[in-house]
Amino acid sequence: MLQQPVLSAKQAYGEQFDVKGLNFFRRLLLALQNKEFVVYFQPKVSIQDMKIAGAEALVRWNYDGQVLPPVKFIPFCERTGLVIDIDFYVLEETCRKMREWMDAGMQLVRISVNFSKYHFNEEGVAERIYNVIQHYGIPPEYIEVEFTETAYLDKEELLESTVDKLRSYGIKSSIDDFGSGYSSLNLLQNMDFEVVKLDKSLLGKGVENDKAKKVISSIIHMAKELDMEVLAEGVETAEELKLLRGLKCDIVQGFFFDKPLPVAEFEKRLRAGGYKEDGSVKEPERIKMELKDVEEIGNSSKNEANSSLNRYLNYEELYDRKRNNGMFIAGLVMLLVAITVLLITFFVIKSGKFGKKEANVSSVVEKTYTQAEVDELVSGRVALAEEETRTLVEREYLSQIREVAGEYSGMTNYLRSLYPDNLVFTDGSRYNFVAINKDLKQSDVLEELFVRDEATGYLYYTDASGNKTSYLGIDVSSHQGNIDWNSVKAAGIDFAVLRCGIRGYGTGKIVEDTQFKNNMLGASNADLPLAVYFYTQAITTEEAVEEAQFVIDLLKPFTVKGPVVLDVESASSDERIKDLTAGQRTDIILAFCDAIKQAGYTPMIYADSRFYTLRMELERLEEYDKWYANYNNLGRDPSASIWSYNSPLLFPYKYRMWQYSNTGRVNGIDGNVDLNVLFDKWW
Ligand code: C2E
Ligand code: MG
Ligand code: MG
Repeated sequence: MLQQPVLSAKQAYGEQFDVKGLNFFRRLLLALQNKEFVVYFQPKVSIQDMKIAGAEALVRWNYDGQVLPPVKFIPFCERTGLVIDIDFYVLEETCRKMREWMDAGMQLVRISVNFSKYHFNEEGVAERIYNVIQHYGIPPEYIEVEFTETAYLDKEELLESTVDKLRSYGIKSSIDDFGSGYSSLNLLQNMDFEVVKLDKSLLGKGVENDKAKKVISSIIHMAKELDMEVLAEGVETAEELKLLRGLKCDIVQGFFFDKPLPVAEFEKRLRAGGYKEDGSVKEPERIKMELKDVEEIGNSSKNEANSSLNRYLNYEELYDRKRNNGMFIAGLVMLLVAITVLLITFFVIKSGKFGKKEANVSSVVEKTYTQAEVDELVSGRVALAEEETRTLVEREYLSQIREVAGEYSGMTNYLRSLYPDNLVFTDGSRYNFVAINKDLKQSDVLEELFVRDEATGYLYYTDASGNKTSYLGIDVSSHQGNIDWNSVKAAGIDFAVLRCGIRGYGTGKIVEDTQFKNNMLGASNADLPLAVYFYTQAITTEEAVEEAQFVIDLLKPFTVKGPVVLDVESASSDERIKDLTAGQRTDIILAFCDAIKQAGYTPMIYADSRFYTLRMELERLEEYDKWYANYNNLGRDPSASIWSYNSPLLFPYKYRMWQYSNTGRVNGIDGNVDLNVLFDKWW
């Protein structure tokens, strides 16, 4: 991955590059090769609920046992071009870590990395960033790139196109140290940053004097008007926190909570999930399960489990570290590991499914079990899951189990395979087990009937004889810019869903999508069957009706035969809708759908499985069509496995359409576009 620096040491330094400089340069190159740079993470905290909203990755140099801060080497690296390698190194290390967290089934938070202005001596930075993220399979919305405010006086165009490209890949950009330099307002106006980071120099003064306070307040206000998220850096005191909360700042970062932390420390913070008002770390959430539950289902296998278990888990260490969590967790871990080992043994022997890695697995297994023994265990754990719905074990323990279970790419998938009658997914820091409601219309989609076009990555559903039965569609919004709809049609796209508007999650105002009318005309002229969607942030049924009326009015001049979809989804900041109960949200959806139906359109709902199952009452929404969102990790690479993370079977209820990608490519559209399989057409 290491690339040559853009400028050689000599070019950068010319005659002034003395022996000392050269030695330092060589030493830094060596440091890169030896991976002496380490990444620290400083938590970012959501000001409303004090939960961890993300983190910033900050580089350190582990130099002969000392930890050197960036100020000691980054300026030199900038002058010599080495900073490009360092920034990509930090990005890669960050993605590598995030991959581990994903594989351990942890809920990701967005991590930002700093990119120096020296990247703007060449094109292709955005592409390179995207490639790294893709390589590790990190959903792009979990990565943010920070650009320093003052850095771009002479490189504005390249910065602008980089920010645009990053956005088209789904990667967020932020403007760092805002308020420390001079070109700020220009940058805000001309570029599409998602986040503005207020420089720490603004803060101290704000607490003391009114004028400085007004400056901060105005910047926050302006950023909000521009639909940007506002983060304040360098928060050191409770007064500063209070001031920022009063000024409606979204996110805070600073020593009041934590300094940049080594990864192991940061992982502890992730587990704790947030902070108290005084800046101290919240206690990790405890498990609800009692020891007796564990013993009841575990008695039969516990002793046998112990002997193999002890070889893989260091019990002393586990126990010491979390003494407070009590014996029952250790018991539970033992039990789950035991079950895991038993099941793997069973599968290896009975089905030969893991043939390729058999050697690996059998080295973990000491004894084999009969079908009856395994059945008994299986029924035990399903009972356990049903009883303790929505609750399981702290991630730390789960990831320990995973090491033994190493066959599986992700803990969630692994649990899914163990609990076939439950939906299993992570929500926040918890594993959720939701029993499948057999009274609802069930999906009859079969994995093996999908075919994927190797060249384009387009996915189709077929009948048993291999004939295509589905339709391929895109959904678009202003993010796609101007679209050449005739090319889209010629590329084999069967239909399109156009975003007609949104309610802003910051402002709460309804806004028409700036490309809607353009898209409507273009797509109609190209003769594509059309549907529309509206992104809701309604928190009352009145607002839902207002949204429906907005859509109905907007559609009047056009002929739309396809569904009118309500997009029910989380936003990067869930503030507006975060307190809705499943019942309230269902009322809101019903109010929208009823109004749409009365106006003569077909309503439809768009959400992911977490929203469908935890945040709505699906049994009240049976009559409406569902559009199912599950596109994480399905990159553009057509050879990548569709099913590893993304099986449509992970959602058990009937749906009419499935969004399976957000990184599709279609002729006539610049950048990424969402791809959908429609099972049942409306035209
Ligand atoms: P930055 O991006 O503005 O990062 C924030 C800096 O503020 C960090 O310093 C952080 O430790 C410090 N900080 C955080 N909270 C507080 C607080 O409450 N009070 C005070 N006084 N300081 C706080 P750090 O880690 O020494 O980094 C300094 C700068 O070095 C960064 O400023 C960034 O510009 C640069 N840097 C760090 N890592 C990288 C990197 O990987 N690539 C590039 N190009 N630059 C980096
Ligand atoms: Mg920064
Ligand atoms: Mg900064």
